[in-house]
Amino acid sequence: MAKQGNIKIASENMMPIIKKWLYSDKDIFIREIVANASDAITKFKKLADMGECTAGDGKYRIDVRIDKAAKTLTVEDNGIGMTEDEVEKYITQIAFSGAADFLSKYEKAGGEGIIGHFGLGFYSAYMVSENIEIFTKSYQDGAPAVHWQSDGESTYTIEECDYSRRGTKIVMHIAKEEKEFLEQGTVRSLLEKYCAFMPYEIYLDAEGKEDEKPVNDTQPLYLKNPKDCTEEEYLAFYRKVFHDYHDPLFWIHLNMDYPFRLKGILYFPKVKSKVELERGKVKLYCNQVFIADNIKEVIPEYLLLLNGVIDCPDIPLNVSRSFLQNDRQVQKISKHIVKKVSDKLTGLYKTDREKYIKCWADLSLFIKVGCLKDEDFYSKVKDIVIFKDLSGEYKNLETFREEVLAADKSAPQNEAAGKEEQEEKKEEQPTEKPATVYYISDEVGQAQYISMFRSAGLNAIVCDSFVDPHYISYIEYKESGKFRFLRIDADVDAALREGGAVDEEADKRLAEAFSSALSVEGVTVKVDRFKTQEVTAVINVAEFARRFGEMNAFYGMEGADADRDMTLVINAANPVVAAFPALEGDKQKFVAKQVYYLAKLSYKKLSPDEMKDFSANSVKLLDDFVR
Ligand code: ADP
Repeated sequence: MAKQGNIKIASENMMPIIKKWLYSDKDIFIREIVANASDAITKFKKLADMGECTAGDGKYRIDVRIDKAAKTLTVEDNGIGMTEDEVEKYITQIAFSGAADFLSKYEKAGGEGIIGHFGLGFYSAYMVSENIEIFTKSYQDGAPAVHWQSDGESTYTIEECDYSRRGTKIVMHIAKEEKEFLEQGTVRSLLEKYCAFMPYEIYLDAEGKEDEKPVNDTQPLYLKNPKDCTEEEYLAFYRKVFHDYHDPLFWIHLNMDYPFRLKGILYFPKVKSKVELERGKVKLYCNQVFIADNIKEVIPEYLLLLNGVIDCPDIPLNVSRSFLQNDRQVQKISKHIVKKVSDKLTGLYKTDREKYIKCWADLSLFIKVGCLKDEDFYSKVKDIVIFKDLSGEYKNLETFREEVLAADKSAPQNEAAGKEEQEEKKEEQPTEKPATVYYISDEVGQAQYISMFRSAGLNAIVCDSFVDPHYISYIEYKESGKFRFLRIDADVDAALREGGAVDEEADKRLAEAFSSALSVEGVTVKVDRFKTQEVTAVINVAEFARRFGEMNAFYGMEGADADRDMTLVINAANPVVAAFPALEGDKQKFVAKQVYYLAKLSYKKLSPDEMKDFSANSVKLLDDFVR
């Protein structure tokens, strides 16, 4: 005769809350039920190891069965099992009070996502089931098997039954509207997601056809001692877990037991673009049970650009994310991970520079973003942030700075420093002399400037990724007074000026004549003499003005025109410019325009109107030439 009992603690109110609250994350019920099965086996195994009971054949396994006709999903284990008392205690009472506790904690946390939703365990299965039966038999000698069932509303029945094996079978009668959980594909992918590394073999049996192989890997590579892992194993594990066709650059195997337990493998993937940057995935596990992807409270956000698996049993999971963020243990874990990553990178830089440089294209975005986000990380890796220079060599900023300062010293008193610059220096009074670092943001677009720099024997670094402008500003701020970054087109007249006597009056007249012949609004004309004769003119936009314009454009502000303060520097050393004052009639106008457009073209793209004007002007000049 079945005994009746009441489920306690306002369960009528409870179930709808559980169901509704977990709604968006229904599939975790599989994890909860399978994890319970796995725990039950672990408990039994421990008892057997201690000699408290006999282990039997010792082959532990979990079976997941789908029966579409009966509309049931069953999870069966050969673990510790439960006596009738235990079912009443653990399933009927404690679980609910645990859940109540949990919900009140959840409310206090302000309703943000709770990691793992641990603690609801068994009852989460009611999100998809209209009825659940438990068949269980305790390991204890002579304990009768028990059958429990409940529709999850408010009552249950419990009675003895003839379930004959040790362990527990949970039969979930799947609700009509949840029948996807009777699909083999769905169940398999959920098992692969949540149970991939659970410690006992899990077999999926759909319609009487059992898989030969377990769905999970009970000995995932990250648990092994790094000493015993081969490169092939690391690569195979990566491919299997991340389904990435491109092999990772390298990896870090985390393995520690004290002062906290942390195991895992972090892979550095090949990342070349911003889009790919966001694609990384770090999966967090707790005792081989999947918790969630990309938990930024545990792993700093920029490290989420990596692909990896982290298993950390010491992370408190019954808490809200905001709690996790302030948890000292979690902060320590997070710091440790950052340290391991920076150690790996600096180690590679020191011991295998060639490989480091080869990987740099893929690493640089990640490292620079990391520096911007985390000062601690910056101080650890700043010396291994490298830049390519005009000779194709890679060096860090400190090396580059030393070279610049050494070149400055050996050069004859540099007249290049314009008045503006000298004044700036006076004001700042830096403790160290700032090194002027010229940089290129677009190797193709700035080819003209680059070739002028090259022929003048000057050097520059390439800063062409989206993160570089931010990185440069950050360095100017962090290493205040040490660097002065100028884009290669920002200061070109000062950098390339040929020393020597200058007839200021004549230059002024030439500039005025040129300016009035050109008559383009917002463009100032200036005369200079460059070391190279080939170039007629270049465009200069002061570094500050350009950055300001870029920033405005970035924030979508009105009037964000970086070109407002454009200066056209004409090269008096060039024969065309030298001949300019003597030109007659309309000729000055056409030549001025052509010189201007040529300079502008190597600075940036022309607008459609400018392009039309430039073509017409060119044809006119050709016309004159052929006559
Ligand atoms: P939690 O797992 O978070 O403790 P659950 O509601 O999932 O909460 O489970 C409550 C308890 O029921 C477990 O702690 C365990 O004692 C018992 N239990 C659940 N599933 C099984 C099982 N398959 N075998 C043995 N005991 C189980």
